[in-house]
Amino acid sequence: MSDSETHSSPAGEAVIIGIDLGTTHSLVGVVDSGFPIILADAQGERLTPSVVSYADPENPRIGREALRAAETAPRVTIASAKRYLGRPYSDLSDEEKSAPPFRVVPLNDGGIGFEIAEGRVVTPGEVSSEILRHLKGVAEAALESPVSRAVITVPAYFNNSQREATKSAAEKAGLTVERIINEPTAAALAYGLDKLDDEQTVAVYDLGGGTFDLSVLQMRGGLFEVIATAGDTQLGGDDFDAALATQIAEQLDLTDLSPQETTRLMAEARKAKESLSSAESYSLRLPFFREGRSYELEITRAQFEAAADSFIERTGSICRRAFAEADQKEVGSIDHLILVGGSTRVPAVQEKLKSWFGHEPNLSQHPDEAVGLGAAIQAGMLCGRVRSIVLVDVTPLSLGIETFGGLMNVIIARNSTIPAKAGELFTNAVANQPSMAIRVLQGEREMAKDNWLLGEIEVPFSPGPKGSARVGVQFAIDRDGILEVLARDTATGGDHVLEIRNSAIDVDDAEVEKMVSESVDYAFDDMNERIWTEAKLKSEELLPAVEMAMTQVGAQLDEADKTEIESAAAAVRALLDSESRDAPALKAANRTLDEATQTLAALLVEAAFSQE
Ligand code: ADP
Ligand code: MG
Repeated sequence: MSDSETHSSPAGEAVIIGIDLGTTHSLVGVVDSGFPIILADAQGERLTPSVVSYADPENPRIGREALRAAETAPRVTIASAKRYLGRPYSDLSDEEKSAPPFRVVPLNDGGIGFEIAEGRVVTPGEVSSEILRHLKGVAEAALESPVSRAVITVPAYFNNSQREATKSAAEKAGLTVERIINEPTAAALAYGLDKLDDEQTVAVYDLGGGTFDLSVLQMRGGLFEVIATAGDTQLGGDDFDAALATQIAEQLDLTDLSPQETTRLMAEARKAKESLSSAESYSLRLPFFREGRSYELEITRAQFEAAADSFIERTGSICRRAFAEADQKEVGSIDHLILVGGSTRVPAVQEKLKSWFGHEPNLSQHPDEAVGLGAAIQAGMLCGRVRSIVLVDVTPLSLGIETFGGLMNVIIARNSTIPAKAGELFTNAVANQPSMAIRVLQGEREMAKDNWLLGEIEVPFSPGPKGSARVGVQFAIDRDGILEVLARDTATGGDHVLEIRNSAIDVDDAEVEKMVSESVDYAFDDMNERIWTEAKLKSEELLPAVEMAMTQVGAQLDEADKTEIESAAAAVRALLDSESRDAPALKAANRTLDEATQTLAALLVEAAFSQE
């Protein structure tokens, strides 16, 4: 008998939360019955500022409360502790020692401390631990149950000691760390890119508050591998704020700013910057800023962009470095570009990226929530294999939906105990697809058409590039055997429900036997059909891509390369058209075409960069 593989969230201690412990913001999420969600705190906020204030050292304040304290007590309010986590004092640059408004001091063991009162020091680990404990509390309040297990994300470039420090900070906060995962990998999970074919390459551009990194990931054997990563740990939205604040101070003739004034001006600059991502201008107001005097200033988006431009340009040269490194490892062209980090909301950043990569960035997820969402998905995968406690009945046949190419995708396997609840996230296979048809199937055969159709719903979504839509599909069978299918467009939150009475459970024994025995009889043919369908999908993707690349940069190839590509493409086309449906041959022809187009792919990347 097979295990029931429900991906529903089990109650209580078994739940695993996902945490994005960010430099600027931190988030906590879980998978709830097939849907990953970011949990909100009591005020309804999902982003917690990664700030701890020790104005009262016995009673530290965390998050937004700490941010408010920062204006009056900047010297004892610790922000961006993550920069210092797991590093020795000797590692720090002068800038890192002196830039923060709080004091950064060396410890006897070579570590780093922050002085929060005369003779009183906290470590970056302790500060992180406060934030993690706070997030644990947010999750427990939202889930109304204790939580003790977590998946935590870290930057791909974190070394072992930084990873260990993250882990012990979590343990100090009462959390068992089930897994540490890389932030870009989590982001790719959130964008649903874990369903990609092998060898697909994803570039993750992450511009946060104080750090920038670009990672190149490749899908290998169903897992993401970080192929290359480059970044700058001193580059991010804070630099935009500082540059804008300097401009504002100059325009208002404000010199010799006190630490309090600087903090306040930076906060106002940040507000202005964030509004200018959607508005063209912003009215900045500084009531009673200095000696009872108030100031006002109108700032335009163009003015902000001018202040931020050199920082955005710097991310470009870092991208080039990462691509050069990836290129040495013979990675083909980038298939997906995803944006992560709040600062990628700046329109100028998105426009620059488009021109550098010649590629539309995928904007389907909230950039500042993607990492947290991915952590939640990973956590959900780790705790998904929990059996329902009540053994009432089992599903006689597998239940699932039809996916790309007419294949059966099982959601609740045969012999699962009911009640059962399970779900998966799906994406669009074709660009600008206006909707997705959810065809609910029952049966054991590999191809949808050989199984029984129980019902169908159409989920509309806003058209976008391939892989941009995300539809959560959840199957729930209650004790009475009623199957409810819920489909949700995660972008709009729109739900579509289909109820199927009894048929999911009440199937004639003889019919079940026939279905199961046929699935055994046809196992070989079915498998061949599945491989053929998958190879055909791959060809249908490859051929137009090669054709387009040839028209764009084909002229730069030598004749031998051109002939090789053309004959490889012709071989694929011939197999697609032939009656024999030879799956292994088509797979091999795809591979040959892929290999023949290596140089072409490299030219494309070059072309994308030289367009600047
Ligand atoms: P981190 O990963 O460093 O914790 P985030 O991804 O939360 O950071 O990004 C925080 C940065 O994003 C801040 O500098 C913030 O000002 C910036 N940001 C957030 N929203 C916007 C917006 N609408 N426009 C421009 N910048 C934004
Ligand atoms: Mg981040």
